[in-house]
Amino acid sequence: MARVIVMSEEQAPLPSEGASGYLTIDLAALARNYAKLSSILAPARAGAVVKADAYGLGAGRVAPALYRAGCRHFFVAQFAEAVRLRPLLAADAQVFVLNGLQPGNEGPCAEGGIIPVLNSLEQWRSWRATAKRLNRRLPAVLQFDTGMSRLGVSPEERGTLAVELAGKGNVEVLFIMSHLASADELDSDQNDDQLAQMQRIAEELPGLEICFANSGGILLGTSYHGVLARPGIALYGGTPTTPGANQMEAVVRLDVAVVQTRTVPAGAKVGYSGTHIADSETRLATIAAGYADGLPRSLSGRGAVYYRGTRLPIVGRVSMDSITVNITALPEGTLRLGSLVEVLGLHQTLEDVARDAGTISYEILTSLGDRYHRQYR
Ligand SMILES: *Cc1c(COP(=O)(O)O)cnc(C)c1O
Repeated sequence: MARVIVMSEEQAPLPSEGASGYLTIDLAALARNYAKLSSILAPARAGAVVKADAYGLGAGRVAPALYRAGCRHFFVAQFAEAVRLRPLLAADAQVFVLNGLQPGNEGPCAEGGIIPVLNSLEQWRSWRATAKRLNRRLPAVLQFDTGMSRLGVSPEERGTLAVELAGKGNVEVLFIMSHLASADELDSDQNDDQLAQMQRIAEELPGLEICFANSGGILLGTSYHGVLARPGIALYGGTPTTPGANQMEAVVRLDVAVVQTRTVPAGAKVGYSGTHIADSETRLATIAAGYADGLPRSLSGRGAVYYRGTRLPIVGRVSMDSITVNITALPEGTLRLGSLVEVLGLHQTLEDVARDAGTISYEILTSLGDRYHRQYR
C-alpha cells in the first residue's frame, strides 16, 4: 500500500515503499555544484571524479547527470569501473583510469575507447607498444609523482620519458597530471612544493597542458587550475577544505526508519556490552541502519540523528543493522514504528557525521550501503 511520509517540514513529501532507509540523491544539486566549480575554474574546465561508484552515489546516474551539466572528462580509479561507465556516456565524453594501465588491459582499453593514465615508464612503453601493434593512434594521460609517492612517473624516470616522448610514436598525450597530497589544508607548504614540481615538469615537456587540482586544489587559486581540474567530493556536497565553510550544496540526504520504541527505567543497559546505562527513565528508539549500512561503529555513544531539528543522541554501541537513540527530548508518541529520522540532511551534514565518527566525509559517502531505498531527484 502506497503511503506518504513527510521527510521533514521543509521538504516535499516523498513516496514510501516501507523501506528501512531512504537515500535521496539530488541530481539537480549535483549539477549546480558542477556549475559552481566550472565558474570558479573558467577558463579552465571541470572534469569529474566518479570512482567508487561516484563516491557511493551511483555512477550510472551521477555521470550522465554530470554529462548533461556539461562535463566531458570522467575519472575512475579502476579499469573495470571504466568498462561499466563508458557505454553510459556519449562518444565525446572521455573516461580516464587513474590507477593506470595494468598488464592484460591494454587491448580491451584500446578497443573500449578508455584512456589510461600512464603512471610509469613501463606503462608508457606498454601503451606505445599497443598503439604500434594495433597500428592506431591511442590517447593517454601522463601522471607524475610530485611528492605524494603514490602514483605517477617518478623523478628518476622523467628524463628517459622525455626523450622517448620526443621520438615518433603513436600515442597522443592529452595532458599531464599530478595529485595534491594536502589540498585540504589551504596553507600547507606541500601544495606550493607540488605546484613548483608540476611547473618544472611542464617546462621539461613543452606543449603539454596541466590537469592538477582535486576539489581542494580548485580553492587554492588559479595557479593550481591548469586546463582541467578533477573534483570529486565537492561535486557530492563535501567540504574540500578543513576547516572551512562549505560552499557546496548538499547532494545526499539519508532518512532511516524507526523499527521500535521503548521506555526503559534508570539503570537499564543499552546495546552490546551494556556500554550505556540509563541514568534516569529514558525513551529510546531503535533505527534500522547500522555499521553494515555505512554508519561506522565508531559512532557508538557519539553522534546523533535528528527529528525535525531535535537532536537525538546515539546511545550504546552501533550494531550491524541498527542504532539506538535517545528520544526523550521529543514529546511522547512523536516517533512510532516506521517514522523516519534524519541521519544526513538539513540538520546534520556529511562533515558532522564524519567528525563524530572520527573519519572524513569521503569514507562516510563511499560506505553508504545498498540496503537503503535509493531515490534520485
Ligand atoms: C580521488 C581523486 C580526485 C578527487 O579528489 P577530491 O578530493 O574528492 O576532489 C582527484 N584526483 C585523483 C588522482 C584522485 O585519486
